[in-house]
Amino acid sequence: MPPSSHTDSPAGMSRRDFLSLAGRVAVLWGLGSSAVTSLAASIQALSTGRAPVLWLEGSNCSGCSISLLNSYPVLPLSVLTRHLSLQFHQTLSTIQGAPAVDLVNHTIAQGGYLLVVEGAVPVTIPSACRFGGENFGDHLQRAAQGASHIVAVGSCAAFGGIPAAPNNPTGAVDAISFLQSRGISKPFVRVPGCPPHPDWMIGTLVHLIQYGMPPLDSQLRPLKFYSKTVHSMCPLREMEDASPSGPPGCMEEYGCKGPSTYADCVSRGWNGVATSCLHSHAPCIGCTSQNFAQSSFHHWPVAQ
Ligand code: SF4
Ligand code: SF4
Repeated sequence: MPPSSHTDSPAGMSRRDFLSLAGRVAVLWGLGSSAVTSLAASIQALSTGRAPVLWLEGSNCSGCSISLLNSYPVLPLSVLTRHLSLQFHQTLSTIQGAPAVDLVNHTIAQGGYLLVVEGAVPVTIPSACRFGGENFGDHLQRAAQGASHIVAVGSCAAFGGIPAAPNNPTGAVDAISFLQSRGISKPFVRVPGCPPHPDWMIGTLVHLIQYGMPPLDSQLRPLKFYSKTVHSMCPLREMEDASPSGPPGCMEEYGCKGPSTYADCVSRGWNGVATSCLHSHAPCIGCTSQNFAQSSFHHWPVAQ
């Protein structure tokens, strides 16, 4: 008998509930009402385990998982924690210890799952991150072999992020480069951000289940979410340059990375409302970029 997943059955969710959720996902992707019925089937597949998701965490802070929990109104918290059949999720699953390892190994043996990776892979000190007594890199490689698709969520898994920042004592690298160095070739998607917007994660997973690979840019990021610069949507764009003691304004002079950073966070808004770093008058630190945290350019001067 297979080890039990942490998730409940989708009891309590009606077809109307799935259609309602599907309507929100359709809006997220800019799809018309004709897509709602098939999207509802995808979400139902996620909730019943017919589209299993294995979510592994390497060197990270779990911030992407916390962001996922903020996916309201697209997917409310109760749907994520009670109804989505995440076969295993290191932060959200209540199962621990040997049963958790058994569940992961059983899922890997079954194959055919979407593998989500959150966090970088320590290479110089492989034992810096372990799961079930196995170094994370070896564990990830084993899990990758049975995956249908592999999604690197967050800038640590996508590009190395903060664990790979200089001087990088553990030799952390991004999950996709690591797997490619081990000879793994799979459909890969990067969903960077520190953290990524919940829509980017949910939208990518549902698209993979329903339609397969979304259109990607040259860095394997879904074009839907990463095709425009932060600068092009910035509410401060038409304002005068900011000054330390003056009113809010453009912060390019102070190193804002909006002009070279691709993400729709400003127009999408965080926490279900129209807010973002720039709406809060904080500069963009380029958290979706490949070079995020890789140079001292991102180290902001501290007021004395
Ligand atoms: S604050 Fe940054 S993103 Fe906004 S207009 Fe200035 S440079 Fe562009
Ligand atoms: S504005 Fe820049 S730093 Fe802020 S979430 Fe968007 S990409 Fe990341």
